[in-house]
Amino acid sequence: MCSERAGTPLIHSLERARSLRVAVIGAGMAGILAVIRLRESGITDVTCFEKADDLGGTWRENTYPGIACDVPSHVYSYSFAPNPDFSRMFSPGGEIHEYLRQVATDHGVLDVVRFGEEVLTMSYADQGWSVVTTSGVQGRFDVVIAATGVLHHPRFPDIDGLDTFEGKIFHSARWDHSVELTGRRVGVIGTGSTAVQITGAVIDDVARLSLFQRTPQWIMPVDNQPIAAEQRTAFREDPERLRELREFLERSFAENFADAVVDADSEALAKIEAICRTHLEMQVSDPELRHRLTPDYRAACKRLVVSGDFYDAIQRPNAVLVTDPIDRIEPGGIRTVDGTLHELDVIVLATGFHVDKFVRPIALVGPDGRSLEEAWASGPTAYLSVAIPGFPNLFLLNGPNGPVGNFSLIQVAELQMDYILQLVELLRDGRATTVEARADATAAFEADRIEAARGTVWVTGCNSWYLDAHGVPAAWPWKFQRFRDVMAAPDLSAFELQGGTT
Ligand code: NAP
Repeated sequence: MCSERAGTPLIHSLERARSLRVAVIGAGMAGILAVIRLRESGITDVTCFEKADDLGGTWRENTYPGIACDVPSHVYSYSFAPNPDFSRMFSPGGEIHEYLRQVATDHGVLDVVRFGEEVLTMSYADQGWSVVTTSGVQGRFDVVIAATGVLHHPRFPDIDGLDTFEGKIFHSARWDHSVELTGRRVGVIGTGSTAVQITGAVIDDVARLSLFQRTPQWIMPVDNQPIAAEQRTAFREDPERLRELREFLERSFAENFADAVVDADSEALAKIEAICRTHLEMQVSDPELRHRLTPDYRAACKRLVVSGDFYDAIQRPNAVLVTDPIDRIEPGGIRTVDGTLHELDVIVLATGFHVDKFVRPIALVGPDGRSLEEAWASGPTAYLSVAIPGFPNLFLLNGPNGPVGNFSLIQVAELQMDYILQLVELLRDGRATTVEARADATAAFEADRIEAARGTVWVTGCNSWYLDAHGVPAAWPWKFQRFRDVMAAPDLSAFELQGGTT
């Protein structure tokens, strides 16, 4: 059911095909996809290394109360595995994890996943990658696909006294489910998507919730009602309806959001801003609280937070919005610079992630002895976010400077995988033994990208995880259609092909 790939002439004659040994790193959403698509294309020698003991990536790691995806589920799902049974338009994280598990099981992915095997080093020589994992040498692979994720290195805040707290303290991505929140005084540091979801989810249970806000957020309202059983039955019985819904959501997500954020002057962005402002004005009645919740930057400059219950939650009698900056953490709680000690039993660090790691901490060395660390000394870059000069036959899914903030990452990974498979096919059919992005093509792409980023909303005056160390948005600054177009077929003049026999 997965093989309808319009316009991708992937498979030449199977008799001509050289057999390739391929490693996939990571069994999250993108790694599962890579295994499925590689095998569909006829490559049978595929091994997927997964550091954890379960698949699911971000959906395995993030289990905090209220977790959901802010992209509609019928778009945040594989095009080849539509799911009529999503319970809501924005389904809870556990359901997405279950969906990924089901797709992996249905496609036999688990047969090739080596759980508990973290890749430690990779070095390239004699047209192959030597891979070493926690259990030792794994031999050589012709091709490696790194599906290592983006948001999974927790960022712990640099706050004095973090270690002195006598209650329970943990990062949102390392939720400690043994800690009871009911009736406790809970502090949440941060106001990103994570903190906002946690706030809405725990407010009914906790004795007091203190939300430590350094920067207010614009919040796009959503009415995330359950999808009625009759509707789910209708999707099941008539897959065409589900396909139409997906197409509609994809189109409207692209037009109303993805294309808006890359054009700071667009009408669509003005509409988003108006919706967020009206949401705040309608939902928060106290002018003083409203003032403290009002950002001084444009909506969607930071990653837009989506929530239907945050404003209600933060106005509850047991909620406290703390806007005085944090001075330090003490055994009894968090002291703010005004001298107040906010006494707490539990502190949740919803302080985000180090977003520029990508394949690292794997120690990766290319054929000329240059490490990835050296290649990325001034920040991670990759040609169209999928291939890195100096590192042949290595491809990235959801790599640096791709469309992290604008589209469904599953859709992005699918388009990238189709593109990568066309490059892998050059290796299979003997046109090359190595495929490597050219440095000049990568530099030209980067220059265009940086120039285009000047027109996006991300540079209109806020601090966010989209901005790299140079203040440039580490993202795709063009419309979605452009991404589709460039991913449709590789421009081979951007690649160095070596060792071909045909
Ligand atoms: P985030 O957006 O990076 O937010 C981190 C928050 O912590 C910010 O409010 C930041 O304040 C605050 N913070 C960091 N260090 C601090 C310090 N020392 N003192 C006080 N506050 C501090 O992280 P996130 O909320 O985990 O979300 C990350 C991304 O994951 C999202 O943007 C989204 O792409 C994805 N995500 C998606 C969903 C969803 O699908 N709904 C849910 C969760 C996460 P400043 O703003 O002042 O820096």
